[in-house]
Amino acid sequence: MQALTRATWKGSALPLTEADRRLAHLVDDLWAGYFADVPRPNDLVVGFAFPWKWRLARIRMALDEQWSEIGVNPLLRHPAVPHDIYIAVLAHEIVHYAQGFGSPLPRQQRHAHAHGAVDHELARRGLGHTEEVLATWGEHVWPHLRAEAFTQHRATRRAFRQAPLQDGRKYAIVDVKAVQTIAWQGR
Ligand SMILES: [Zn+2]
Repeated sequence: MQALTRATWKGSALPLTEADRRLAHLVDDLWAGYFADVPRPNDLVVGFAFPWKWRLARIRMALDEQWSEIGVNPLLRHPAVPHDIYIAVLAHEIVHYAQGFGSPLPRQQRHAHAHGAVDHELARRGLGHTEEVLATWGEHVWPHLRAEAFTQHRATRRAFRQAPLQDGRKYAIVDVKAVQTIAWQGR
């Protein structure tokens, strides 16, 4: 039996939010529905991370491999962001975990995004449409929504101070490529 996803990646530095909890549950639902064959040999933590300009999410692993962490761009909390985008973003990161990027599992290819590896894995698992939805939305909708989302994000964050991520250990950052940045940046 796999360990449950932990609902936040900020440890005790910040209180657990309901939004973090929903993210974690969504990861677990996706895992159970589409990735049930993928073992989870370390702890997986998930939560809202940094309001990156182009990246929507990333996965990384602590150097001691004790835990992996999926961080989602908090700008996606804007109410106009569809639920399907959450599914697409999280499924993408779970594929990286399954293929050994940001996880202790054996690497299945040299680079995380080589030769459409993520697309193929998603398609094989019946999630191929999610990347298409994400690419279209990322190209046509998100650029117009992002500024407003950022303003809203700053307003809601005024109550918090930026907490250090976890305990300051060094990380092996794996998915430095943004989800679908290629389409968004017109390359
Ligand atoms: Zn990726």
